Amino acid sequence: MSIIFYLHKINFFIVIFFLLFPSHLFPIVLLVDPGHSPKSPGATSCAGAPEYLYNDNLASFIANNIKDKDIRIELSRKPGEERELRERAALSKDFDLFLSIHHDSVQPRFIQKINNAPVSRKASGYSLFISGKNPRYYDSLAFAKDLAVELRRRGLAPSSHHSEAISGENKVPVDETLGIYLYDDLVVLKNAAVPAVLLEAAVIVHPEDEALAISEPFKQIMADAVKSAVAKHRVRFKAQ
Ligand SMILES: [Zn+2]
Repeated sequence: MSIIFYLHKINFFIVIFFLLFPSHLFPIVLLVDPGHSPKSPGATSCAGAPEYLYNDNLASFIANNIKDKDIRIELSRKPGEERELRERAALSKDFDLFLSIHHDSVQPRFIQKINNAPVSRKASGYSLFISGKNPRYYDSLAFAKDLAVELRRRGLAPSSHHSEAISGENKVPVDETLGIYLYDDLVVLKNAAVPAVLLEAAVIVHPEDEALAISEPFKQIMADAVKSAVAKHRVRFKAQ
C-alpha cells in the first residue's frame, strides 16, 4: 500500500468526523479574566478591601457555577496570581470569547472617607465596556448587548456615571439603556484576538451596591447571565 493510499484514508476519516460532529456542536471556550492583582489592586471598596479580591471571587464563582457541557471556562490567572495585561490578552487566541471581570468606583471628588475607607452614593449598578480597536469589534458589541439584556432581564440596572461630561469619565455610550460604553484603549480589550467585553459588576464604594456584590444571589445572577449570553454567542458563531 502506498503512502498516498493512507493519506486518502486519513482524509476520508477526517471528513466523516466533521460530518458526524459539525463544529457548532463543539463547546464554546470562554476566557474569564479576573481584573487587577495583588500588586495592582484596583479600586478600594467602602469596606476597605481591594478590588482584585472582589474580581477573583466573582470570576471563580462564574467559572465554578456555569455547568453546561457546551461551555468551557478558564481563568486568565488563578486567585492571587500576578499576570501582565498584554499577557492576559494574548491568552485569548486559544479561546472564543474574552470577559474581564471588574468592580467599579467613582471619581475622587464624589468620595468621602469614612473609617478610612472610600464611600460614595454617586453611582450604583453594572457597566460594560468594549474597544473599537478590538479586531472583532462588532462581535464584541453583540456579546456585550446579549450580556446586558440578560443582566437587565434579571433585574439589574446599569450605571450611567461613565458618560458624564467630567474629567476621568466622558466615555462614549454605545447603548446607554443597556449600560454599554466605548473604551478604545483598554489594554486587554484592544489586544484580545477574540470578541472581548469588560464587565464592571457593581460599584464597590457604594455601601448597598457593595453589599449586593458580595451576596450569593447577585453572583448567581451574574453567572446565569454570562451563561445565557455565551450560549447565544455560541449559536450565532459556531453555526456559521
Ligand atoms: Zn478594575
